[in-house]
Amino acid sequence: MSQATDTDVREDGRIESVSGPVVTAIDLDARMNDVVYVGNEGLMGEVIEIEGNITTIQVYEETSNVSPGEPVESTGSPLSVDLGPGMLDAIYDGVQRPLDVLEQKMNSAFLDRGVDAPGIDLEKTWEFTPEVEVGDEVEPNDIVGTVPETPSIDHKVMVPPDYEGGEVTAIEAGDYTVEDTVVELDNGEEITMHQEWPVREARPANEKQTPTTPLVSGQRILDGLFPIAKGGTAAIPGPFGSGKTVTQHQLAKWADADIVVYVGCGERGNEMTEVIEDFPELEDPTTGNALMDRTCLIANTSNMPVAARESCVYTGITIAEYFRDMGYDVALMADSTSRWAEAMREISSRLEEMPGEEGYPAYLAARLAEFYERAGYFSNVNGTEGSVSVIGAVSPPGGDFSEPVTQNTLRIVKTFWALDADLAERRHFPAINWDESYSLYRDQLDPWFVENVDSDWPETRQWAVDVLDEEGELQEIVQLVGKDALPEDQQLTLEVARYLREAYLQQNALHDVDTFCEPAKTYGILDAIQTFNDEAFDALDAGVPVEEITDVEAAPRLNRIGVQEDWEEYIEDLKDELASQLRELY
Ligand code: ADP
Repeated sequence: MSQATDTDVREDGRIESVSGPVVTAIDLDARMNDVVYVGNEGLMGEVIEIEGNITTIQVYEETSNVSPGEPVESTGSPLSVDLGPGMLDAIYDGVQRPLDVLEQKMNSAFLDRGVDAPGIDLEKTWEFTPEVEVGDEVEPNDIVGTVPETPSIDHKVMVPPDYEGGEVTAIEAGDYTVEDTVVELDNGEEITMHQEWPVREARPANEKQTPTTPLVSGQRILDGLFPIAKGGTAAIPGPFGSGKTVTQHQLAKWADADIVVYVGCGERGNEMTEVIEDFPELEDPTTGNALMDRTCLIANTSNMPVAARESCVYTGITIAEYFRDMGYDVALMADSTSRWAEAMREISSRLEEMPGEEGYPAYLAARLAEFYERAGYFSNVNGTEGSVSVIGAVSPPGGDFSEPVTQNTLRIVKTFWALDADLAERRHFPAINWDESYSLYRDQLDPWFVENVDSDWPETRQWAVDVLDEEGELQEIVQLVGKDALPEDQQLTLEVARYLREAYLQQNALHDVDTFCEPAKTYGILDAIQTFNDEAFDALDAGVPVEEITDVEAAPRLNRIGVQEDWEEYIEDLKDELASQLRELY
């Protein structure tokens, strides 16, 4: 976060009132969104309303000992993040204070007050390699050099967006801190590896493009039925215990993004502790390096102050945009946006604003839209292409999707993965309801799957969707009259649908092999079930009783494809077996 320097400090104000995280001050010379230091302890806050002589501030720290009359000073700059090498492998709170630095300063995992820390290490040196030469013209956002930030990621050093740009007059390879000048321009501008950017403002980019590449997740039901694009938006609503966190972790681990920004927003403290402890242990399956080498964690537990929860998603998305500008595909996971909305609600009620639906502020929908709007597949100002995909978990109270946060999110996002308590209870995981979920990216991503996986990808998926739909309808009849009352072909459809659910839709995140399913294997499983379907219906047409068909010995092997490492061989062999065993029946 930006820190005040003595030269920018404006005239001091005085605290007039304190209501939890909301403090009002009088006589403060500050602008909207300025960062201010509040009270004798200098707690960090942000200006959220100015009316005449009264300035309203949300404070990112506990305000219990703050009293009217104490001073308030403005830094004169908006709430900003520090951008530069050192953000990967970091764990921040909602206003980008590194948790380890805070802990050292305070010797406690719980944040105390009045402690500030820069978002990136100002003393560490980095090996800078120039990408431009003396005499080259550079413009805002142009890449001027690279730094090996972690074993997985090269950090691209860029001309800050608010610079003018010009001709390079000095640049040299070497070891530098983020505050050292690495490039000098003829107009006197000096470029360092450290940028700042106000969190509530999207970083500039050229037009958004229609995304045509999937963010491959390695999760069959997502890639196969409800894919998200690189640069797309998705919501995962679900009641407690239905698998939101497991799904978000699976995506963080397996999605083919270059960079993951994980915003743990106000979930129960112990869950975030798990994330903070688990993530540093995880290995990146594609490189074998630590997963944290390409991950930035922002952790705001519900025992941290509410205003820091409000800001954490903005901190996260600004960091994501910065890596996008380097030409990377970034996936941002926010768990959970409901906690963020609750923080908005709490602050709004302290401000005594007119409440909207269920007490949320009237601007809830607009804030959600602004946040998801920052996702996209972009051509960047510097000519690279990059994307920010945003996946937000929603935790509707009681699992009721009609509540305002879920409803407003659904109007914005294009992928909806509906978690279902009944499925979770039946241990059908991932407990994603295939009736309610959807992806509006499906058609635009089909060409990619056709080209990279199989030309029959769309048809095979449609076949599976139709069988599952038919099963849904048949189940209603079965509940009334029992399965045996159905005609034989419908009984066989139910059997095929059962394999679709058990072998394809279910996937065990906790199994070493099954946890990740590449698209070719996802397709292969469907193809094997379809082979069973076609051979089985041929047998039925030839007069074989349905019980004999469903009893065929090879069929249950379909359910074990997921856990096979040598799945290609296994599937080929299984398809042959299914064909020969079913043909033997007639
Ligand atoms: P939520 O975040 O919605 O409260 P969790 O993500 O913590 O729910 O999931 C609850 C439990 O469900 C997990 O501890 C795990 O046992 C089980 N679970 C969820 N998804 C899967 C999955 N894909 N594979 C295996 N188990 C799962």
